[in-house]
Order: sequence, then C-alpha cells, then structure tokens
Amino acid sequence: MTRATYWLEHAWRDTTVEPGVLLDVDGGRISAVRTGVPTPPPGAEVLRGLTLPGLANAHSHAFHRALRGTVQVGSGTFWTWREVMYSVADRLTPETYHALARAVYAEMALAGITCVGEFHYVHHAQGGTPYADPNAMGEALIDAAAEAGIRITLLDTCYLSSALLNKHSGEAPNTHQLRFSDGSAEAWAARCAVLKERDHARIGAAIHSVRAVPAGQLATVAGWAQERRAPLHVHLSEQTAENDACLAAHGVTPTRLLADHGVLGPRTTGVHSTHLTDEDIALLGGSGTGTCMCPTTERDLADGIGPAVALQRAGSPLSLGSDSHAVIDLLEEARAMELDERLRTRTRGHWTANSLLRAATVDGHAALGWDEAGTLEAGSLADFTTIALDSVRTAGTLPRLGAETAVFAATSADVRHTVVGGRQVVRDGAHTLVPDVPQALARAVEALRS
Ligand SMILES: [Zn+2]
Repeated sequence: MTRATYWLEHAWRDTTVEPGVLLDVDGGRISAVRTGVPTPPPGAEVLRGLTLPGLANAHSHAFHRALRGTVQVGSGTFWTWREVMYSVADRLTPETYHALARAVYAEMALAGITCVGEFHYVHHAQGGTPYADPNAMGEALIDAAAEAGIRITLLDTCYLSSALLNKHSGEAPNTHQLRFSDGSAEAWAARCAVLKERDHARIGAAIHSVRAVPAGQLATVAGWAQERRAPLHVHLSEQTAENDACLAAHGVTPTRLLADHGVLGPRTTGVHSTHLTDEDIALLGGSGTGTCMCPTTERDLADGIGPAVALQRAGSPLSLGSDSHAVIDLLEEARAMELDERLRTRTRGHWTANSLLRAATVDGHAALGWDEAGTLEAGSLADFTTIALDSVRTAGTLPRLGAETAVFAATSADVRHTVVGGRQVVRDGAHTLVPDVPQALARAVEALRS
C-alpha cells in the first residue's frame, strides 16, 4: 500500500473535535497524526467535513437486504417474518449470494462502514448437501467484502436444531434449515478450521442461539473460538419465546445456560440481549461479555428495547449492527439507542454522542476482533469516514459539536468519503470500486425473486 497524507478539516478523536488534523498513512496504517494544521499542505488529500474512525457494523445477515420493503406489507409477527426470510435463503447460491453481498457491502461503504461482522449460517446447498468446497458460501462473502473494499469478520455460525427439546438434544432442522446445519458442533468446527484469514478478513465463530445449538454442544463452539482467540457471537434472548423454551428445557435462562457452558467472556458478544433478568445482566457484565444492539431491526421486528444502559453499567461494552438491513445507517442505530431509551423512561441523557460514537467505532471493531482499528491514532488501521457538515441536514451546526451532529442529525446520506486501509473506497459520495451500487443491488435482489 502506498503512502498518502490526508488533511481532515475536522476530526473526532474520542471526546473532542479538532480542526485541521493531518494523518500520514503508510502500509495501510496511520503512521503519524499532527493536529493544529489550519490549511492543507500541498499534495495532501483534502477531506472536508467531520472525519470519524471507520464505522463497524457488528451484526449483519447480508441476504436479509433482499427483504427490504417486502416484509413491511400487512402485519405479522417475528415468526411470520422468519418464514419470508427463509424463502429468500432457499434461493441463495454461492453466485447469487456473492452478487448480493458485494452490493450490500458497497452500500455499507457508502454509509461509512469499514468493517462488517457477517453472522453467516447459510452454508450448504438445498437439502443440506455440502458444496464441492464446503465453505463456498463463506468464501463468497469474504470475496464480496474485498470487492466492495471493506473488512469482514466472518462469524461462521453453528446451527444444528430447530427447537429445544430437552437437556441433550434439539428438534431436527426443518427443510429450510437443513442447509444451515453441519450435523454436529464437531463437524462445524472441522469445516471452519479450513477457512483462512486474509488482510481484509478475519474468522470468528457464532452460536446461532440456544435454540439452534443443543446445550451439550455449546462448549465445542466456545472452545474453538477460545483456542484461536477469535470473537464469538450469539443471538441472545431476542424473543420471550426463546426464554420460555430454554426455561422449560433446561430450567435456566439462555444467559445462565451460556455461562454454565463456558460461552461468556470478553471475546464474546451477545446480540440483542433484549429480555434479560437482573442475574443475566450481572453475568454478562461481570464476565465482560459485549452487547450488540440492532435497534432498527429490533423495532422493525417488535422485539422490545433491551437493557443496554444497565448492561453497559455492569461492564458489557456496546456495539451496533444493522442486522436485517431494514436500513443500513449506523448513525441511525446510534441515535436510536438514546432516543428509544428516552421514550421508554421519559427522561433524557442515557448515552452521550461520544459514547455512541465509541460503540460505532472502537468498541464495534473490538467486538469483531479488530483491536487495532476504530481510532484516529498513530498505529491504527487507516480506516476512516467523513461526514458532510454542509449538507441540508447538517448545515449551520457547530463543528465543535460534530459528534452531536453526526449522531443526532446526520444520516448515511451525509457520508462523503470512506477510506479503508489507506485506500479511498468512497470519494465524494461515489463508490470507487462498484460503479453503480443501486443498480448492483436491484439486479442482485431481482435474481433472488425469479
Ligand atoms: Zn441476527
């Protein structure tokens, strides 16, 4: 990667917005930071607006993008939504998934996202037959991220059963779910062991949920992640039905079950964590387990508002995800954390703009195993994004209140530039690698309809 110098008109650096910051980039990393540089020196790339570290989208199912709009017709429940989602999953192949994911990750780059955590469970061909390369689907996602110019943590997901039956087993996967399952956690681990990390790609693990992995096999997945010091994500208590089924089968909450099988810890992230007891919150916080909230999906699916504030207080760092991609806008996810809480409590001031930006940047990257990204400091990966402060939404705001403007007024439409590993992936609002992102999205979604 070549050397470059970027002059940032304004830069958000943890708690303050500084005017005139110069970043030297070398080998894909920030090699030096100089502040108090009022005008761009000759040869520097000029980034006007407010530059933030790249945003980390810590929870994605790329194929859900094909559902946008269609799942808003009529009413329904989480479980009827899931049926529509399965009908799209049925039609995915390595080719169609690659085309869709490339376009979705390009949409993410346009929204300032430089790293995605892909919670990936559509592994095999219809009926559960493995492809010639049993990781063909995961490889399609890793390639798609490279082509869209962003980083990916492939959270390869263990998914074995349709419902909890008792302490030892689950109900066999239904016809849709056959392609998700490797048959056992050991077989899942053997397949994942073949996946290779690359400059832009890391491999992590996921437990789909306590419903989809029988209790006796949880430790195998946790052990696999532990051995590799890899991130481990798990859908946790998104629906009360999951809690009820877990209590009926095991006599404990999903959180307690995960704790008892060695799943919790600082490299683990619980996704949603919506319906928790006080003991659950203490277990998650006390073990340093992270929490990934996906408020635009949680409101879309009528999940409820999770106890993110109490979790953070107990010691669980927050990350954010666009999950089902009802919208792809991490700034909207960030502001929803505070605004939903205001509605619920009828008081303001639960999250500051700075704390929400930390969730969207440094803490989100840490949840995906990229500890060296998410800050504008020397040594950090040269991943950053610039928000316009002169758009119709942001004009007239004070640059020193840039964090507040970014979180509470800007949208993904205000993202002007995105740089990943020192390379400009988005310049002046246009993707430099995927020429017509809307058309690529339309074509990829259409291919899944026919
Ligand atoms: Zn999810």
